[in-house]
Amino acid sequence: MSGEANPFESLQEQVDDAAAYLDADAGVIERLKNPERVLETNLTFERDDGSLETVRAYRSQFNGDRGPYKGGIRYHPGVTRDEVKALSGWMVYKCAVVDVPYGGGKGGIVIDPTDYSESELERLTRSFAKELRPMIGEDIDIPAPDVNTGQREMNWIKDTYETLENTTAPGVITGKALDSGGSEGRVEATGRSTALAARETFDWLDDSIEGKTVAVQGYGNAGSVAAALIEDLGGRVVAVSDSSGGVHDPDGIDARDAKAHKQTTGTVSGYGSTEPLTNEELLTLDVDLLVPAALENAIDADLAPDVRADVIVEAANGPLTPDADAVLTDRGVRVVPDIFANAGGVTVSYFEWVQNRQRFHWTETRVNEELERVITEAFDGIVDAHESYDTPNLRTAAYVVAIERVVDAYEQAGNWP
Ligand code: NAD
Repeated sequence: MSGEANPFESLQEQVDDAAAYLDADAGVIERLKNPERVLETNLTFERDDGSLETVRAYRSQFNGDRGPYKGGIRYHPGVTRDEVKALSGWMVYKCAVVDVPYGGGKGGIVIDPTDYSESELERLTRSFAKELRPMIGEDIDIPAPDVNTGQREMNWIKDTYETLENTTAPGVITGKALDSGGSEGRVEATGRSTALAARETFDWLDDSIEGKTVAVQGYGNAGSVAAALIEDLGGRVVAVSDSSGGVHDPDGIDARDAKAHKQTTGTVSGYGSTEPLTNEELLTLDVDLLVPAALENAIDADLAPDVRADVIVEAANGPLTPDADAVLTDRGVRVVPDIFANAGGVTVSYFEWVQNRQRFHWTETRVNEELERVITEAFDGIVDAHESYDTPNLRTAAYVVAIERVVDAYEQAGNWP
């Protein structure tokens, strides 16, 4: 990972690129490039040995013109204010491009969660939930899981919020466990949208995902589910990786078995009869489809000329720097943007919230069918914009669709004197 590009500057550049196709007021576009507010706070919590530790945390509420702020909470040592701002902006455009009635937010705590016990993480998470309480709520701001957080952390945040508010409000957070008000299909939703995005893209190119070779960088929630579902659609996964490195087998890797290996050993390394390879080798492997599913800036302008995939479907948020994007566009590589390709997570979060508000539980079949409808309709909308505005790539087209929707909502609300 290059780490060179500032993700917030990348976001602003992406908005500018798309705004050039729209006749929107410059002041409105400036608004769409900056968060409405950012909470920066310090969380003090007790370690198991009785000592106190203080860590930095953020929550950015980027834009609420289309509905409550929505976005995950990440636990990672690389979390910064700018990263959280960027991620919260991407959420605005992600919700808009799939037409989910939410704005965008994002949060993070600057820790390596592997340094802490479960009880320490619970105290820390509850401390964050206490700080967040005045600014979140079922109709205000609805957090969700992100890197290194999951159902466990979401259940703690829900319980802390409900206890302090003396109410039941399962819709205050999504990505919960099923018995705590979670939705069927939520855990798989991000990877499912990535797989559907890949299928739709090859269909659009008058081709098929069947038989296509696939490399997946990052084998967590998003990457491992995408790999398994792409395999179900007929793709052949030949390389996968995580932060410890990657594995390669030209004859194909059983995506679910590799995940089971990672669950047992903590890494994909050493899986089956695969050969080891570095993350850089994986990203430049001669495959039909590359799925970056780790973190931001995985592919920069130095690496982009060496990428050999024909199609890149972004499961991670911001895996390409804008410079890399430009190189790949020039080279004719089809890049399917993150704000669409990983939008399954927020879409099923929205379904979870709808179920919570209705106090009604949908079947997994219903969730997956509704998700497939949202993703295929959104893809058609992006392709329409790509063709009618003659945008250089699908990313700019996706931003054009999304920004138009946010600008419309802002203008329809009107201005206060
Ligand atoms: P996760 O923690 O479950 O998995 C991340 C994976 O990436 C792990 O396997 C980790 O080992 C690997 N990784 C980390 N650094 C790496 C590196 N330098 N090279 C290769 N692999 C590396 O996280 P996740 O939920 O799967 O999220 C991954 C990406 O998808 C993030 O960008 C996240 O924002 C995005 N995303 C996730 C969701 C969701 O619902 N989980 C939704 C939308 C977007």
